[in-house]
Amino acid sequence: MELHFLTIGELREKIATREIAATTVVRSILKRIAEVDTQVHAYINVLSESAMAEAELIDAAIAKGIIKPLSGVPIALKDICCTKGIETTCCSRILRGFIPPYDATVVEKLREAGAIIIGKTNMDEFAMGSSTETSCFGATRNPYDLTRIPGGSSGGSAAAVAADECLAAIGSDTGGSIRQPAALCGVVGLKPTYGRVSRFGLIAFASSLDQIGPFTKTVADSALMLSVLAGYDAKDSTSVNLPVPDYSAFLGRDIRGWRIGIPREYFIGGIDTETQSALDGVMRTLQACGASCVDISLPHTEYCLAVYYIVAPAEASSNLARYDGIKYGMRVEKFSDLKDLYKKTRSQGFGSEVKRRIMLGTYVLSSGYYDAYYKKASRVRTLIKQDFADAFRVCDVILTPTTPSAAFKIGEKTNDPMQMYLSDIFTISTNLAGIPGISVPCGYTASGLPIGAQFLAGHFEEAKLLQVTAAYEQAGTFIKRRPKI
Ligand code: GLN
Repeated sequence: MELHFLTIGELREKIATREIAATTVVRSILKRIAEVDTQVHAYINVLSESAMAEAELIDAAIAKGIIKPLSGVPIALKDICCTKGIETTCCSRILRGFIPPYDATVVEKLREAGAIIIGKTNMDEFAMGSSTETSCFGATRNPYDLTRIPGGSSGGSAAAVAADECLAAIGSDTGGSIRQPAALCGVVGLKPTYGRVSRFGLIAFASSLDQIGPFTKTVADSALMLSVLAGYDAKDSTSVNLPVPDYSAFLGRDIRGWRIGIPREYFIGGIDTETQSALDGVMRTLQACGASCVDISLPHTEYCLAVYYIVAPAEASSNLARYDGIKYGMRVEKFSDLKDLYKKTRSQGFGSEVKRRIMLGTYVLSSGYYDAYYKKASRVRTLIKQDFADAFRVCDVILTPTTPSAAFKIGEKTNDPMQMYLSDIFTISTNLAGIPGISVPCGYTASGLPIGAQFLAGHFEEAKLLQVTAAYEQAGTFIKRRPKI
């Protein structure tokens, strides 16, 4: 088998037994990228030279008997993660030329664990979007159908894993940007609890919602990645100081007696029939594993989208105020005075979706409107969080579709922001509540497009998510296919 098809679990064994070298793996991945990425466009920057140099160091360490959890594993990073000495753009013109002087904490952790950073992946500009079409580098394509979007905003990372252009990738999720593209590309995507993984060095979109998490080919790989990424970081004031469990230890455990909450608000209308029947299949499998499905209610679900599109743009407008042509990246060449410099740099540097969010956010935070919008949204957010707390009193985990339908065509929703926003209808509440969520592949449409199932759990209960999805995966009722590229 070609090495790029391996999972992390499989590669780890081959590295540990010295069957293959890290340099061989990296060469195989670079070859694969050269073969398919002109079609997929998952990467905006492939770090061939530094990856080979890192692999040589890893091989030297292995020769001395030093083997780490991710030794020799090629990993791709969404271009929202700061990388020391490597341009980091958030796929925005305004950050072209920005070279961070430090690595994000997750990048440090990956390097310490022996991983090899293979490249930076494409994304929607500043992570605002659900299709990876708003990138200043152009769209990424879904490996299962090159005329369709891979989802977003972490579409490059999801597509890179789906097309076997890396073994795992890092994404960020503010309202669904890990889970939604994972579902549309047929891979596993995990958004941890807010505070579980350090956000230090993650370019901020909406600080109270953003979380970093992994894209992997299997649930077991997701557990391995989370064990490396999670943990307290003094450099992130919202990082929580709780011990990190050995997530892999939960994988073989059964789910007999578990109650799977089925929120009735998520299953009424709007879901396409193929998605619904794939979800029915997941329920049957879980029942066969000894779990039972219970009807639950999340009564404030209908307000989630509205609350998100007040809170997220409000925080974004504040976070993006720093891009003014002075400190980071791009600056226009011709300007008359300081104000003109700000105005021209921001007008030319930001794309239209980012501008829309900045205007919306500035408006809802402006005096006279703050109470009516931002404050009210914050209150409803508390009710949404309470809905989940109530639900988890009667169930262990919640099951929903990840998306209302499979991947749509490139260009299909670009002129209709409302339609685009609706792509995240099932993922957004998770971020508002701060709870963890995972999307796992659970079926294909008749035309061969992947469908994802989303599981949610209480705060810091990632282990439960991994246990239930591993049980589902191991039941073997769903057979994973590879894209035909
Ligand atoms: N699609 C949502 C948005 O456009 C969520 C994005 C994300 O999670 N980063 O804001």
